[in-house]
Amino acid sequence: AQPDPAVGAAVKAADRAHVFHSWSAQGLIDPLAVAGAEGSYFWDYDGNRYLDFSSGLVFTNIGYQHPKVVAAIQEQAGKLTTFAPAFAVESRSEAARLIAERTPGDLDKIFFTNGGAEAVENAVRMARLHTGRAKVLSAYRSYHGATAAAINLTGDPRRWPSDTASAGVVHFWAPFLYRSPFHARNETEERDRALQHLEDTIAYEGPGSIAAIILETIPGTAGIMIPPPGYLAGVREICDRYGIVFILDEVMAGFGRTGEWFAADLFDVVPDLMTFAKGVNSGYVPLGGVAISAEIAATFETRPYPGGLTYSGHPLACAAAVATINVMAEEGIVGKAADLGARVLEPGLREIAERHPSVGELRGVGAFWALELVRDRETREPLVPYNASGEANAAMAAFGAACKKSGLWPFVNMNRTHVCPPCTTSEAEAKEGLALLDAALNVADEFTV
Ligand code: PLP
Repeated sequence: AQPDPAVGAAVKAADRAHVFHSWSAQGLIDPLAVAGAEGSYFWDYDGNRYLDFSSGLVFTNIGYQHPKVVAAIQEQAGKLTTFAPAFAVESRSEAARLIAERTPGDLDKIFFTNGGAEAVENAVRMARLHTGRAKVLSAYRSYHGATAAAINLTGDPRRWPSDTASAGVVHFWAPFLYRSPFHARNETEERDRALQHLEDTIAYEGPGSIAAIILETIPGTAGIMIPPPGYLAGVREICDRYGIVFILDEVMAGFGRTGEWFAADLFDVVPDLMTFAKGVNSGYVPLGGVAISAEIAATFETRPYPGGLTYSGHPLACAAAVATINVMAEEGIVGKAADLGARVLEPGLREIAERHPSVGELRGVGAFWALELVRDRETREPLVPYNASGEANAAMAAFGAACKKSGLWPFVNMNRTHVCPPCTTSEAEAKEGLALLDAALNVADEFTV
């Protein structure tokens, strides 16, 4: 279609008049009016095209408008658009089967939700009912969603305004060697000290009061920190020792993002509950869920589970999941993410990182990478202070604006930019994006000491 700025202006005007946006001061935002999207790109009404290195909010793992998934949604809409959750429905049954086939260990029962936060809410509820305990431990430097329990579990400043309702949540430090909370010098020290810190936290909170420990397998929005070898296995062992439910949150890391179906597969660890959303159907229709172990499922075999949602396992969302998972399998998209990471993104980003003084650290795997931007490589002082806004955030704002101006849509959080393109991004597209990123980092470099 031809660009049509007048339509774009009308879309923008109605948005500004009536749409109340997430996480924003409503009078200070200027959302881009999007005209369309395909594959790794989207475009506006003025004819500007953007290569999406953020996959929306890290959810379009198969790219935009995959024709087979669009067709499956259309077909399901024609057949049975909606139905209540208490019935057995073909697309729901098949989605649950395909997911359970891929989740690790004995996580074979699927409770469907409409997104990630609701998945976390229900995983926590299951853990509390299963153990009869109240407290849940979660990590600083985490994001688990924006509903009541999920935002309290979150370990970033978005939690603070909702902290009044945080009863029963205790935060601890997970490993992150580059900014080690434990003053560790290497991965092994970081792992051992992080596990000891978790043990100490449990001892002082009272092991008998803790229902669950929840961790993102690889923390996403908080910075893509790959846990050191043995850390997650260590948490698993601690949970087993104290009868604590181990919840892995794979809302962002799951469904191919890391080059495995689930990030847990990278570490050979099996949680008791695993949350998912986003990549399960690339966000084409809202869907999330909890994969449940045999032991926890047994708790609710004769005792009713006291939780539910009108749209649990919505037929349209589940049809999108069935088509997405089948497309991912047929087109080898999980392997493509691994290959994109190993062959294109890692070497390309490493070369860029070395050249730019504003890059303090590169970390990631598959289609899931973070560049930690710093003012000073020696001291590792972040390019902007923690939770900076306004003038204090000028460096990151300038970097983000430079990306967008060049046609690259970046993921930016605090002093980091994440490189999270669709897993289907081609080598040529990825290289185009890396070249644009390289140029935008010249702007960040200007803010270094
Ligand atoms: N958990 C993780 C790890 C996430 O990254 C997110 C969203 O970014 C959520 C939970 C919340 O998911 P949703 O926004 O679908 O509620």
